[in-house]
Amino acid sequence: MADEANSSILDSSPPETLVDGSALVARSLARAGVQHMFGVVGIPVTAVATRAVAFGVHFLAFHNEQSAGYAASAYGYLTGRPGVFLTVSGPGCVHGLAGLSNAATNTWPAVMISGSCDQADFGKGDFQELDQMAAVKPFVKHAAKATHVTQIPRLVREVLGVAVAGRPGGCYLDLPADVLHQTIPESEAARVLSEAENPRFQEIRYEGSLDIEKAVSLLRHAERPLIVFGKGAAFARAENSLKKLIETTGIPFLPTPMGKGLMPDTHALAATAARSLAIGHCDVALVVGARLNWLLHFGEPPRWSKDVKFILVDISKEEIDLRKPYLGLVGDARRVLDLINEEVKDDPFCLGRSHPWVQAISKKEKENVAKMEAQLAKEVVPFNFFTPMRIIRDAILAEGSPAPILVSEGANTMDVGRAVLVQNEPRTRLDAGTWGTMGVGLGYCIAAAVASPGRLVVAVEGDSGFGFSAMEVETLVRYQLTVVVIVFNNGGVYGGDRRSADEITGPYKSDPAPTSFVPGAAYHTLMEAFGGKGYLVGTPQELKSALAESFSARKPAVINVIVDPYAGAESGRLQHKN
Ligand code: ADP
Ligand code: MG
Repeated sequence: MADEANSSILDSSPPETLVDGSALVARSLARAGVQHMFGVVGIPVTAVATRAVAFGVHFLAFHNEQSAGYAASAYGYLTGRPGVFLTVSGPGCVHGLAGLSNAATNTWPAVMISGSCDQADFGKGDFQELDQMAAVKPFVKHAAKATHVTQIPRLVREVLGVAVAGRPGGCYLDLPADVLHQTIPESEAARVLSEAENPRFQEIRYEGSLDIEKAVSLLRHAERPLIVFGKGAAFARAENSLKKLIETTGIPFLPTPMGKGLMPDTHALAATAARSLAIGHCDVALVVGARLNWLLHFGEPPRWSKDVKFILVDISKEEIDLRKPYLGLVGDARRVLDLINEEVKDDPFCLGRSHPWVQAISKKEKENVAKMEAQLAKEVVPFNFFTPMRIIRDAILAEGSPAPILVSEGANTMDVGRAVLVQNEPRTRLDAGTWGTMGVGLGYCIAAAVASPGRLVVAVEGDSGFGFSAMEVETLVRYQLTVVVIVFNNGGVYGGDRRSADEITGPYKSDPAPTSFVPGAAYHTLMEAFGGKGYLVGTPQELKSALAESFSARKPAVINVIVDPYAGAESGRLQHKN
């Protein structure tokens, strides 16, 4: 005893501070430049969140991991940096799979970090036990598990790097509870942190040759060329390069839903309202950062001409291999467009306003816009989808620049919104995306608000879409985010009961229809429950004043717009799939 006491008195250097796994995760994230993390705390990750905050990471605490995951995926898209989200083990990880799968399907960079059960107790039925590495596998580019605290900094760098390398997507980091609780001396922590800063992974770049000359020659000699661009071009921040190409060549363009805004919707060469004509008749289509999937009718007849020559620009070689275009250019959208612009500059060409193809598109575009405007000009009360959508469009346009970021989900609400709402700035539209994911709404709103501080975020959602993530309105209030959520309340999925008399039969025939919710639900009071502002509107005047007040207040609000339950259609635009 005496000896021990003596030796501790004689030891002049104080005992070294110990660093635990949770703190090391937090420090690794902060040192990698992670500014925001979304998630739900609980066993064993609460300390990861609190320490992350202490090290300067803004933690957005959600009610549900699903919404946190959706937020992370959209944040990845909007910022170009992986969106990071934190979940507890077992069920938390399962809820988070929604976010990972959404990131994968949209090709957006995101990283899910989950706690997992103690390594020694795995397989014995531990608290919230799950083979999480197996569970995430179908949805990630890369998954890593830390089996010892010292691995944490390197693995954090690895998942963050792989998520954005090449085609973006989701990555996963598994952190067993025992690893989060392990400690190492500060000097060792400092060593493993700095070692991790020399990343061992390389950017996945396919070094194929780019036949830029051939691409330009195809465009130059086309009779009816078209430029199509999607959210991959938006992710690549290719807007200036696109604008240059479109304006020097005079080629009409068509954005995909989230490509909208890379070029202003109101641009003279926009073929958005002449979509069927443009895709049905073009002979060469330069498709940039957009997959020829269901959203583009697979690039096949009858929607496209059977002779159309596709020039496909994509960061992913697998995508080119899958579609087998006439010409594939594997590379970053902005870089490839810059090369194309260089090539065009050597021998410029321009279709000009009087070119028959440009004229045909512009004529069709004007006709369709006029038809839509005539429909929008009617003041229909009780509201259909068009009257309130026009009022919302005008209120959003009146905001000017920077334009509000629009979040849109629902069936009819999203379809009508896509046609009516105007996108004039890049990355200002977030919708149900490639997977048609309903429930993304509030998560996307939160991501957009923190990714672009001060910018107004406006969600235009069906009541059913809103319901998936509605509790996150509390999150909006808690962080005082500048989000106005507009709910198109038609009392259900597609609205009212559209069954024919012979479908209303059997022992449960007096139940509400599977498509119906409680009519006239007071969604605005949900927001008021947390101290936010709620509005109930049923007329143009009420809607206009709610928009004016909430847009200028820049405080969380829900506007509950009562819509005729029989306006719109079942399955919206996709009735053929129902
Ligand atoms: P949309 O829904 O707008 O049609 P998709 O999600 O179908 O867009 O397609 C986006 C495509 O963009 C994906 O195939 C993806 O590999 C690609 N992509 C992602 N990042 C880039 C980039 N930096 N440059 C070019 N293509 C990219
Ligand atoms: Mg509805």
